[in-house]
Amino acid sequence: MQDVNPAATVSAGPGTGRPPAELLRRLRTRHPTDPVTHVERVPARAGEQAPWPQWAPEELRAAFARHGVTAPWRHQAEAAELAYAGQHVVVATGTASGKSLAYQLPALATLLADPRATVLYLAPTKALAADQLRAVAGLELDGVRPACYDGDTPRTEREWIRRHSRFVLTNPDMLHHGILPGHAQWSGFLRRLTYVIVDECHTYRGVFGSHVAHVLRRLRRRCAQFGRLPSQPPIGRRGTAGPAVGDRGSTGPAVGGARGGPVFLLASATSGDPAVTAGRLTGLPVTAVTEDTSPRGGVTFALWEPPLLPPPADAVAVADDLTQVRRSALRETADLLADSVAEGVRTLAFVRSRRGAEVVAANARRALDEAVPGLGERVAAYRAGYLREERRALERALLHGDLLGLASTNALELGVDLVGLDAVLICGWPGTRASLWQQAGRAGRSGGEALAVLVARDDPLDTYLVHHPEALFGRPVEATVLDPANPYVLAPQLACAAAESPLTPADLDLFGDGAKEAVDHLVRAGDLRQRPSGWYWRHRERPEVDLRGEGGTPICVVEASTGRLLGTVDGGSAHFLVHPGAVYLHQGVSYVVDALDLDDGCALVHVEEPDWSTHARDVTSLSVVSVRSYLDAGPVGLFLGEVDVTSQVVSYQRRRIASGEVIDTRPLDLPARELRTVAVWFTLSPQSLAAAGVEAADVPGALHAAEHAAIGLLPLMATCDRWDIGGLSTALHPDTEVPTVFVYDGHPGGAGFAERAYRTAAAWLGATRDAVVECGCESGCPSCVQSPKCGNGNNPLSKPDAVRVLDVVLANLPAGACAPTQPGPADR
Ligand SMILES: [Zn+2]
Ligand SMILES: [Zn+2]
Repeated sequence: MQDVNPAATVSAGPGTGRPPAELLRRLRTRHPTDPVTHVERVPARAGEQAPWPQWAPEELRAAFARHGVTAPWRHQAEAAELAYAGQHVVVATGTASGKSLAYQLPALATLLADPRATVLYLAPTKALAADQLRAVAGLELDGVRPACYDGDTPRTEREWIRRHSRFVLTNPDMLHHGILPGHAQWSGFLRRLTYVIVDECHTYRGVFGSHVAHVLRRLRRRCAQFGRLPSQPPIGRRGTAGPAVGDRGSTGPAVGGARGGPVFLLASATSGDPAVTAGRLTGLPVTAVTEDTSPRGGVTFALWEPPLLPPPADAVAVADDLTQVRRSALRETADLLADSVAEGVRTLAFVRSRRGAEVVAANARRALDEAVPGLGERVAAYRAGYLREERRALERALLHGDLLGLASTNALELGVDLVGLDAVLICGWPGTRASLWQQAGRAGRSGGEALAVLVARDDPLDTYLVHHPEALFGRPVEATVLDPANPYVLAPQLACAAAESPLTPADLDLFGDGAKEAVDHLVRAGDLRQRPSGWYWRHRERPEVDLRGEGGTPICVVEASTGRLLGTVDGGSAHFLVHPGAVYLHQGVSYVVDALDLDDGCALVHVEEPDWSTHARDVTSLSVVSVRSYLDAGPVGLFLGEVDVTSQVVSYQRRRIASGEVIDTRPLDLPARELRTVAVWFTLSPQSLAAAGVEAADVPGALHAAEHAAIGLLPLMATCDRWDIGGLSTALHPDTEVPTVFVYDGHPGGAGFAERAYRTAAAWLGATRDAVVECGCESGCPSCVQSPKCGNGNNPLSKPDAVRVLDVVLANLPAGACAPTQPGPADR
């Protein structure tokens, strides 16, 4: 970097007060072509307070006042009123909008009014539960006795907590493994359970979320069996249930419900359809409060697209036509960090990987040192591997201005008081809007203005977002999805429920669609015995069910010379990542795999850093098992259903890291694997493709390119990443008999992603088309139709024909975001 302004470093220090618009102008004028695609001014907002609810006791108001809360924000009061009236509520508002007061207020008011009532609080992590414990304990309310109950709780304290605590903080794993199986010891607590608080509920997604949904149903069942005590004052005031949401018929009145069991209070990051997601998670009708009335500082938010690089001179031998790529987001972020630091601006850069954070910090340091020797010392990397004290020291140095630039992996690892920075750089879309705002939220001192910059990576979704600011700053469309009807989740959860107490026909309604089939399956497998009074668990041991499990056994990666366990790779990706000869990266260190032993579930590796990378190739076939729902749109058909995917990793390529040149292709001898899962697929008639100008010979490349881009854009509609999903396209599929593109959930039984794609097909495929059309490359690049995980080496691909395919589909799909549901001929 030649154009660092040394004069600016003289005035470096906290609070340079440089207006963000001015800083942004200086950053962007250093580029020959303007990389900024959009600037959004997110204005400062004054908070809107509401009076304390009448039922909030003076003792509680005074406790909050001691912590600086003189009155709730309006959204907090609204959610608290609904919950106190007995409605299940989800608060889905931004980072730092005070969601915890919204659930603490009704829960603690009830504990103070009713000396017998109890509250259960669930957090996705132990650390969050510990934070919440500090907050509740800090209020110093008589008789509440809050306590964490998790794997770290000493045995000697557990009985005291079960008997005396009235505000128990735990996590879904402990509820599943500890509290529900030991329910006899918890009967007193559960009988008096008034509220269940589910914090950060957007983290319960996919297969894990589907498991948690059933853990909550098991909790509701136990509470109903113990029967809650009548005549508690707040319950007497409770009205009718909130508006129903469609939860696939699992809102049966048999158990729980707003009148009977505990009231569920959920907190979520902003997302699409929070009431539907919360309804699916709890199996109850849930009302959403989504308007954020907390105050915030103003942010100037720039969307930044690194320029396309010209093709390299030695492009002839490069693999897979990877000829045109953008300047890497890491380099771009490093330059921006150096430039901001040179301007004396305190800047935090978020990078997705730990290695990436180190690269960004190192490059920024080098650039600064070239301009002004010694200036590089004011930039550091912030790693998870550091000790807590080291990390806090780095944060303090940044807050005080001794450090000016910090590159970090994850907003959640940072201390809560690291806010008020002048600028935040976000290297690559962090995956969800919640993460984006969590990271951007570190910028902006109170009353001041700050700058946030999202730097796009070479990826279809990043490219789409920097050209479609409405997807970031408008109404959220990305929803948290889960699928409690997944039979691979439902059957083991019903086994757990039966082991807790025999299942009755009424329970089947509680567990929802597919419960009867799953119970029949367990009976046939010899795990349940049917008697007139219900279904009984037949074994002495309880079922072993891992909430985060994928079904397949994870593969341990072991260093052969030392026997040291480096980590695990889930069973589904092992064939791709740790086949014999694979180069495997672990925490920045390069290893080569000597052997993969599938029977023992381990891969043996040794340290080696060759100058090539490895890329597995697979052969995949797919057959349709059943159609759940479909839409007949003339020459186009849209389907949702079950499929069997068979894939076999057959070879791998070795490629030079520097040039991408293919060294050789080596065969592999690995078994084929079967996956039964849920897919969305669309079909087109050959005539409609011909009429759109797609030559018969180009159909495979057209469909393949459309499939890649569609997979890349699905995370816009559902919180998943492209590694959660797979695809297959073919010019003639034996089951559909026409050109077809399939996109399937990469998890046994499905995780809800394909279903979300089906329901939002017009919006999803419309965004896919726009992303491909708007990419500036000529014949396809990683920002549009190329995929980093393609089993066919990105061949064949036709970018212009992919647009024609998508145009035909979109012209025939009904307008509007959602495809209507029609029962399929083989509904399960
Ligand atoms: Zn492109
Ligand atoms: Zn592919």
